[in-house]
Amino acid sequence: MRRSPVHGVYETLRTILIGMRITLKYCFARTVTVQYPDMPPTTQPQFRGFHWYEIEKCSACKACARACPIDCIYIENSGPRKIDKETGRVRGGAMIRYAIDYSKCMFCGLCCDPCPTECLHMGDIHDHSGYDRPSTIVEFTTLAQQGLRTPMPAWLLKNSLPDWARRLKEKWTNQPEPAREEMRKALAEQPVEKKVPAAPAGEAEKPAAGA
Ligand code: SF4
Ligand code: SF4
Repeated sequence: MRRSPVHGVYETLRTILIGMRITLKYCFARTVTVQYPDMPPTTQPQFRGFHWYEIEKCSACKACARACPIDCIYIENSGPRKIDKETGRVRGGAMIRYAIDYSKCMFCGLCCDPCPTECLHMGDIHDHSGYDRPSTIVEFTTLAQQGLRTPMPAWLLKNSLPDWARRLKEKWTNQPEPAREEMRKALAEQPVEKKVPAAPAGEAEKPAAGA
């Protein structure tokens, strides 16, 4: 059935008014959009972002890599690494590579649970950018050389940052020097200190035979 031009004009105006009604409703509704990165993103306490990795506590046991359902954690070490129970630090072989391919990672957090030294955590950043696929692989050993435990988004490298981002950047980059020193040590072979068993009480004062 052919409709008259008047009906066409009527339909056009009617649909514009319906569209504008929805627009007007949202003009007065509560704002839910966060102007990121001018404003901080709101995340929940159990948020799972890019990993936070404490290399000096990593024993290279590969439990995290075995637990990963998509095999996107890559670990290489030059020799066995052992935990010093007194200091909680690991000595032995060097960490040659600890990398995660974030083009595959689905942020499930299954890698963190089996870590025996609790050195792998889901972090609090959610964005990471790159120009090609290889740049989505984060080399945590390279980050450790710079004193970093988590990858920084490219926009955080800008000089002019909002206050919240500057505070976050300081938290990420201002590791105390003793911690940085331990991170550097994890990248090189560290001899395992052999503990000399303590002499039984009284034996130390025992005079030598024939003295
Ligand atoms: S968060 Fe999940 S997918 Fe990502 S590295 Fe860990 S186990 Fe693998
Ligand atoms: S499970 Fe923990 S200690 Fe073992 S390799 Fe992974 S991060 Fe290192």
